Amino acid sequence: MQYDAIIIGAGLSGLTNALLLARSGRRVLVLEQHPQPAPVVRGFSRGGHYFDSGFHYAGGLGKNSPFRTLFRHLGLEDKLKLFSFAAEGFDCLQISETGESFALPIGFEAIKAKLGGQFPQARQKIAAYLDDIAAKWSHFPYLDLDTAISDFGMEAVHGNSLHERLQDFAPWPQLQSLFSMHSLLYGVSPNEAPTTLNAQVAGSYYHSVHGIVGGGRALVDALLELLRSAGGEIRCRSEVSALLTSPERIRGVRLVSGEEIFAKNVIVTLNPVLLPQLLPKGVLRPAYLKRLKNLRQTPSAYIVFARSHRSLEFLRQRNLFIQPRTGVFASDTHRPLEERAFYLAAAGQGQKGEINGLVGIVPASFAEVADWESPRMRRSDAYLARKQQIGERLLTLFAQKCPELAGLELLELATPLTLRDYSQAPEGAIYGVGRFLGQYNPHPVTRLEGLLLSGQAIAAPGLLGTLVAGYLTSGSILGHESLRGELRACR
Ligand SMILES: Cc1cc2nc3c(=O)[nH]c(=O)nc-3n(C[C@H](O)[C@H](O)[C@H](O)COP(=O)(O)OP(=O)(O)OC[C@H]3O[C@@H](n4cnc5c(N)ncnc54)[C@H](O)[C@@H]3O)c2cc1C
Repeated sequence: MQYDAIIIGAGLSGLTNALLLARSGRRVLVLEQHPQPAPVVRGFSRGGHYFDSGFHYAGGLGKNSPFRTLFRHLGLEDKLKLFSFAAEGFDCLQISETGESFALPIGFEAIKAKLGGQFPQARQKIAAYLDDIAAKWSHFPYLDLDTAISDFGMEAVHGNSLHERLQDFAPWPQLQSLFSMHSLLYGVSPNEAPTTLNAQVAGSYYHSVHGIVGGGRALVDALLELLRSAGGEIRCRSEVSALLTSPERIRGVRLVSGEEIFAKNVIVTLNPVLLPQLLPKGVLRPAYLKRLKNLRQTPSAYIVFARSHRSLEFLRQRNLFIQPRTGVFASDTHRPLEERAFYLAAAGQGQKGEINGLVGIVPASFAEVADWESPRMRRSDAYLARKQQIGERLLTLFAQKCPELAGLELLELATPLTLRDYSQAPEGAIYGVGRFLGQYNPHPVTRLEGLLLSGQAIAAPGLLGTLVAGYLTSGSILGHESLRGELRACR
C-alpha cells in the first residue's frame, strides 16, 4: 500500500499536518509509538480529577486574531469551547524574597495602564516595549500572510537576547522579571532567548488568553475527529525504527515490528536530534546531520499533580509564576529545588464547580533522576521511593511559597524520565529542541526529496508554534500560496 504521506508522531504538529494533507485529498497515515495519540497533551485522570499535562492555556486566540484564523481553518473553532482567562490578571508573578506580586491583565493597553500606574517612572519605556511586542508577536509566516517564508527564523538566530532588550528596565528588576517570566513557556533563559521568540510566545498571551473546556483531551479529541472525517488514518503502538530511502528520495518507513510502509512523503515530527539515527548512511550531508545531532534541548521538569482538600478558587482562570527572587529563571536547574522558579495552575480551570486539582511545573535536569533509568513499564522500587520523596518536597515548597496550598495530597509526579518516555525527547526536554540565539533550527524541507520535518523545533513550542509548524510543513507539499489563500478566505 502506498500513502501520499506518512507522518511520524501524533502530537499537535503531527495531527495538524495530517489534517491539512488529508483535507486536500492526500492519503495520509499517522504513526505513533505510544499506545494513544498525542500522549504529551491528552492529560489523564487520577483520584476523580482530570489533569492537563502538556496543555493548560493558549495565547493569541482572541476574536479576529490571525491565530484564530488558523483555528477556524482547521475546523477547531466549531468543535471546541474556549473560555477567557481572568481579564484583570491571567498570569501573576510572585517574588518570594520581597513578598511582592504582580498580575498581568489581558491586552497590551491594559498591561501598559496597569504597569504604568505601578511604575510611573518607567511608563514610557513600558509603552514602547509593549508596542514593539504588539507589532511582532504574530510575525510568523502563517499568521502574517505576507511574511516571506524563506526569511523565517533568521531574526531568531541573529537578533538581540531578551536579557539585552530588558536592559531598558535595569532600574526596575521586578519589571525585568515580569517581562521574562514567560521564558518558562519556551524553556530558554533570557540570556539566550531571541527577543522574537519571547515576543511570539509572551506576546500571544499579552494579546489574548484562553483555556479550552475539557482541556488538552478535548483538543486532541477534536483533532482526531476532524482527521477521521477527512479520511486520515492513525496507528498507535507503531514506533518507526528506520526511514526507507532510494538514493534520491524517501520511500517509506520501517516499524520496530519489521513492517515496512511506503509513501511519497514522510513528515518527521520527532525531536530532530533523533532523525540521523533513523536514516541510512550517506543520504544527507554529514554537516547537516552533525548540526541536527548538536541541537540544544530545553531543560526537563518535574510535574506535580495534586489534590487540595479546600477550594483553589484563587487559581481559577489564572496561573501563578513564582520566582525566589528577581533574576532567577526557569532555566536555572542547577539550583536546589527550593531555589528554582516554577509555575502553578489549577486543574480544570474551565469547569463550573469547585477547583481542587493543582498542577505544578518545576524545571529540572535529567541528571537528577538518571540513576533510576529503566524501561517505562519496569520502574524500580527505588525510583518510586525517590519520586515520592521529590513529590513531598515539592508540596512542602508550594505550601511555603503559597500558604493556600498547605495540606496538598500528591496524586502523581512526572519526572524527566516520564517526559522522555512520553515524547522520546532526549533527557525529557520539556519543549524539545529550544530556539537559542545563534542556533539554526531546521527548516521543514530537507535535501532528500519527500522527507520533511515538522514539530515544535521548527517554529516554537506551544499550540500556536506547533500549528504554525504544521502549516509550514504541509504548505511545502501543498504550495504555500494555495494554503495562504485558503486562510485569507477564512479571515
Ligand atoms: C508540561 C508541559 C506543559 C505545557 N503547557 C502548554 C500550554 O499550557 N500551552 C501550550 O500551548 N503549550 C504547552 N506545552 C507545549 C506543547 O505541549 C508542545 O509544544 C507540543 O505538544 C509539542 O508538539 P509536537 O507535535 O511538536 O511534539 P510531540 O507532542 O512531542 O509529538 C511527537 C510525537 O512523536 C512520537 N514519537 C516519538 N518517536 C517516535 C517514533 N520513533 N515512532 C513513532 N512515534 C514517535 C511521540 O510519542 C510524540 O507523540 C506544554 C508542554 C509540556 C511538556
